[in-house]
This record gives sequence, structure tokens and C-alpha cells, in this order.
Amino acid sequence: MMIEEKEKSPGVLLQDQLTKKWESAWKDLDSEDTLAIKMINDDYIDFISRGKTERKCAEISVKMAEDAGFKSLEDYLKVGKIVPGNKIYMIHKKKAVVLFIAGSDSIENGMAIVGAHIDAPRLDLKPSPLYECDDMAFFKTHYYGGIKKYHWVTIPLALHGAVVKKDGEIIDISIGEAADEPVFCITDLLPHLSQEQNTKKMSEGITGEGLNLIVGSQPFNEKDIKEGVKLNILKLLSEKYGLREEDFATAELEVVPAGPGRNVGFDESLVGGYGQDDRVCAYTALKAILDQENPKRTLCVILADKEEIGSYGNTGMQSHFFENSVAEVIDLMGITKPELALRRCFMHSEMLSADVTAGVDPNYTGTHDKLNAPYIGKGIVLSKYGGSRGKSGSNDAHAEFMGKMRKTLDDAGVVWQMGELGRVDLGGGGTIAHILAEYGMDVLDCGPALLSMHSPFELVSKVDVYMCFKGYKAFLN
Ligand code: MN
Ligand code: MN
Repeated sequence: MMIEEKEKSPGVLLQDQLTKKWESAWKDLDSEDTLAIKMINDDYIDFISRGKTERKCAEISVKMAEDAGFKSLEDYLKVGKIVPGNKIYMIHKKKAVVLFIAGSDSIENGMAIVGAHIDAPRLDLKPSPLYECDDMAFFKTHYYGGIKKYHWVTIPLALHGAVVKKDGEIIDISIGEAADEPVFCITDLLPHLSQEQNTKKMSEGITGEGLNLIVGSQPFNEKDIKEGVKLNILKLLSEKYGLREEDFATAELEVVPAGPGRNVGFDESLVGGYGQDDRVCAYTALKAILDQENPKRTLCVILADKEEIGSYGNTGMQSHFFENSVAEVIDLMGITKPELALRRCFMHSEMLSADVTAGVDPNYTGTHDKLNAPYIGKGIVLSKYGGSRGKSGSNDAHAEFMGKMRKTLDDAGVVWQMGELGRVDLGGGGTIAHILAEYGMDVLDCGPALLSMHSPFELVSKVDVYMCFKGYKAFLN
């Protein structure tokens, strides 16, 4: 090293000293990192392969938490107290999860919170979905979140969800993931007859009302029966699940891309799969808190629902379920003036809004200011602000909090980069950051960059998954 340094000219030396190079996170990894990257990504692929819906993700997350020694709020309510080191989880409506580890410091001094979301864009079945047309049976769908409709035709699709029967019985449905299970599909026109379709704008080539799922084509075997294909489907659903057509009115069934997450590339450096926005952050945040013992600050991880439709509903971040969860914890800590303690706790908390951002894609130039763009494989992305048209709707983190995170990440050897979602005036987007910021806490958006975000097959770099895990862990430590 010394000889090399001597050979450098004063200008090059000065450049080394003063210029920031945003290097690939793959460089300078030791063998321990390399092994950890493989292990965490194998496990992560399993997580996204099994967690295809918010319900499934919540269920899997609770199981992982229980295996790590977390107990439900109900358990602590029975005991009547929470003491430092206790690990608590709460699940709301089977779709949102909050985890805490009680710290030795007073909770009034604030928590370290990492918040991600476990819902993802998809097609929901309409309340009356089943119909027959031209001797084929279909389900009508209504898409959830921001999709490009043409992504959803001619790919194998799976169906997951719950049907609530009149007597209250809940039927869990999951079909299309295993290799021996049937899948479903939405058709597209053949190129030969697409002259009219091809002249339409991409946003209009496939319509919302056109996203109808083929579910069958074989009629019930009886001469002259009307709508025999639909009847045959109803017969099969009755035999397999005990369902009648009316039961769809009280169901939540989600159509998602079928099949597991996959390794991508000869070097297997990427993970491809559905729902990585934002299950990549949910998974890494969850792993980060499961690793903690006896913290000083109270730690918290939020896995929220409904982010993709604006965080509304009682499982979305705009509802009070999170605030109520913290109130329960504070009460069990036996703090006098619990209402003030809750306000102080929020005011003094720090939060990472763990969500993905859009990486530079060489196939689509001009989407980013390259000086301020997030890149695949360059580590966890800190997004000071999001929003659109002049940061509108964005949290815009304070430089002081960013500075603190910069030190935390550097000290822990986490490779990070700065990134805007896209070029000014091109578009934009939001996260749950601004909702938590309303309580007065410091919030910073950070997570990995994805390619093909909101598509049925999103891509993430494995080294970025690892750096997110390490980053969230360093923040919670
Ligand atoms: Mn997201
Ligand atoms: Mn999203």
C-alpha cells in the first residue's frame, strides 16, 4: 500500500481524500459476509415464496417471533406486567404485526422503530366474481395498489385468501403454488389479431374490467343445462371447500403470481420474485429485531398492511392500532402518567421507514438524476425525501438524523448510498414515513433499490438485502 501511495500524484491523492466514490457493496466482503449473504437470501427466498399475502406474511412473522421467544400481548396481560428484556408481539386482524423488546431505559426516552409493510399490489376477487361466457368460467377481479395491467396477462397465477361462511367458519384457500396444483390465468390477444390493440396506449391496452381470470372450461355433464361450466366450478368448490356462490360475498381472495422466488443471474447475485416491495424490508427488519437481547432503548418493528392503497383501513398505518399497541405496553410497564409517557415516547422515538426504492435500470434511461440515483448492489439506500412535484407529501428527514444514521451505518460496516426515487417532475411516491413523523419522531426512509418494482417478478440484489438487515440491526442495537 505504501509504495502505491507514493506513486500517486498530489492531485490523485487529493481526489482520493476529498471525492466520494459510491462503490459496489460486493467489493471488500470477507468470507463471513459472503456466507451470511447466502444464508440470509436463501431464507428470504423461502419467506417471499410462502408469504404471498399480508395474512400469510403476518402468520409466518408471528411464528418466527414465537420461535425467538416473543409472546403475545394477551400472554403479558395475563401476567400483568412487562419488564426490561421482555419480547412482545401483537397481531391486528391477522394482517398487521407489531413487535417490541422492552428496553432497560424508560420508554419515555423513545423507541427505535423499524416499520415496513407486508401488503403488495395484486388482483383481488370481486364480491361476486364467478361468471360463464362462451363456455368458459371466469373470476372478475379488482386490482389492489399500483399495477401495470399488461404485467398480469399470460402468466401463471395463484389464489390465496379466506372465505368466511355464514356460520362464522373460516375456510383458508391456497391454490396454485405447488407444482402439482392447478394455476389460473388471464389471457391476451394473439399478435395476429392485435392490430387495434397495438395502436392503444400501454395504459389502455389491457383494462381493469378485462382482468378476468380463467377458472374452468368443462361443463357439468347434463344435456341442455344452462351455464354448465359455472355449475361445474361451483360443484367442485362445494366438494372441496363446502362453499356456495353466496360465500364469495364474505371472502377475501387474492390473485398473485404463482410459484416461488428464484435466484437470478449466472452469478445468482439477484433475487427475483413477487411482493418484494415491501417484504424484503419486512423480512430484514424482522430478522434484525429477532437477533436482539436486553436492549437499552425499547425496540419496535412494525409490519403494516394497506400501504399500497394509502395506509387506510384499521390495519394501515393511518389507523391507531400502532398507537394503541404502544399504550398497552406502557400500561404494562406500570408507568405513572401513562398518557404523557405515550406522547413523550413518540416525541423521542427514532424511526426507519423501511421501504424499497427504484434502482437505476439501464434499459430505461432518463428516469433518474444519476448523481442522486440508487443503484442495484450499492447497499441500503437512504432516501432523505420522497413525494412528488417538489417533495409534496414527503417526510424530508432532518440532516441531524441523517448524520446520526450515517455514523451508525459506517461504524457497523454497512454499505449505504443516497437515492432519490426518480428524476424531479417525473413522478413519485410515498411510504409510511410521514404518518409516524406526525407524532414528532425523527423518520428516515431507507431500504434496498428494486428493478421492476410493482411487477409480478421484482428484482433485488442479494448484497443489498444483506446490507438492509445489517443496517436495521445496527440501528436497533
Ligand atoms: Mn413499499
Ligand atoms: Mn409499493
